[in-house]
Amino acid sequence: TPRLSPPSRDLTKSNAQFQRAVQRLPLGVSSSFRYWGDDRTVYVARGKGGRTWDIDGNAYVDYRLGYGPAILGYADDRVDAAARKGMEVGGVFALSTERELIVADRIAKMVPAAELVRFSNSGTEAVMAALRLARAHTGREEYLLVEGGYHGLFDAAMWMADMEGWTPGSNGDPEMVPYGKGIPQTVKKLAHLVPMNDLQRLEDTFKQHGDRMAAMLIEPIQGNCCGISARRDYVQLARDLCDRYGVLLIIDEVKTGFRVGKGGIQGLLGIRPDITTFAKAVANGYPIALVAGREDVMRSFRFGGASHGGTYTAHSVSLAAAEECLRILDETPALVTLASYGEALKSGISGILNARGIAHSFSGHASMFGIFFAEEAPDNYRDWKVSDYSFYDRMAYYLHDLGVIVEPDSREPWFMCEAHGTEASCLTDTLKAVELAVDLTLQ
Ligand code: PLP
Repeated sequence: TPRLSPPSRDLTKSNAQFQRAVQRLPLGVSSSFRYWGDDRTVYVARGKGGRTWDIDGNAYVDYRLGYGPAILGYADDRVDAAARKGMEVGGVFALSTERELIVADRIAKMVPAAELVRFSNSGTEAVMAALRLARAHTGREEYLLVEGGYHGLFDAAMWMADMEGWTPGSNGDPEMVPYGKGIPQTVKKLAHLVPMNDLQRLEDTFKQHGDRMAAMLIEPIQGNCCGISARRDYVQLARDLCDRYGVLLIIDEVKTGFRVGKGGIQGLLGIRPDITTFAKAVANGYPIALVAGREDVMRSFRFGGASHGGTYTAHSVSLAAAEECLRILDETPALVTLASYGEALKSGISGILNARGIAHSFSGHASMFGIFFAEEAPDNYRDWKVSDYSFYDRMAYYLHDLGVIVEPDSREPWFMCEAHGTEASCLTDTLKAVELAVDLTLQ
């Protein structure tokens, strides 16, 4: 068979923009994860529905969706119209508005564990507040994280398993290391890390440290690690151990919330956390986040208890967008539409890979899935390390050149939006590109 020629994509304007931007903005971007190399960093002109256009005019079917928020699709007319009305309210007042209660009531209806709700601006802020709340409520300082989880950019959350320095098959655990520099080592003394889905290790860790822990933080579908999923019995054990040791269970639904189902991953698992954090899909991309949970715990947000606030919390634009976005997610089949699209996409990708004898599996949920080049889906972060992710990494670059934008790092799942399911050609365009990208990767 003749060799396929690699696709080429004109990035002249993006490259020139990078050269100018890097003079003023570190790495030429405003979030380090948006830097994909000096000659591959893309600058976006606009997004609409399930697609993005860059400043060179290249169109992409977009499965990054801003790391998940655009649950309905970019620039959704319904949400944007609501946001415009929110603009007329006036922004922020250092006082509250009536809409806060309207949105909180909707959230409590969709997620029964969200008995009380506090608004924040970003996922990071919400998790930071949740951890402080747990500490204030329990009077303890230590906490437990799960390998492969990500909970935002504040110091306490920025500890991870060092997969670079870990040898698969060794009996030892990966070392707990900070994400980069600038995170004080003293913070590490309060953090513990366990591998996902290892029941014995969870039990042992609680036995050893449970009496000093304020909280266990878990993403039951890891939105930053291939969509690796906790088995129900693992989350149930976490729930039971938290109860036994007086630890608060925080389910971080920043990525799964209002995406995998109206009631989030906790609804699908049927497990009630003490505290939940939400962000991303709440307002289709407008900046807003939530800490929500058990009434007695949430009442620790008080003077003399856990302090919480913020100039921009419950901004009138984000709040109006949230009201409309949550109404759509609650009252229309949007989440069914996007999950069915995800199923169709997975099945199309499987067809292409099966025809070429490539072993693979999917993890996560149809609305946010990871592709894994092994027959078994990964059970934890250590499985990802031993999989052949180099195939994915090469394929991802071809996909970009062929008009499908996914994260080049295989740990970031593909995200679906309602518009993918309602725009006729998203699926066929994607599968055409996947087929070619796979063939290019194979040769
Ligand atoms: N928690 C989870 C599970 C996340 O995926 C993220 C971000 O991707 C965060 C927290 C932090 O959210 P943000 O980027 O809005 O600060």
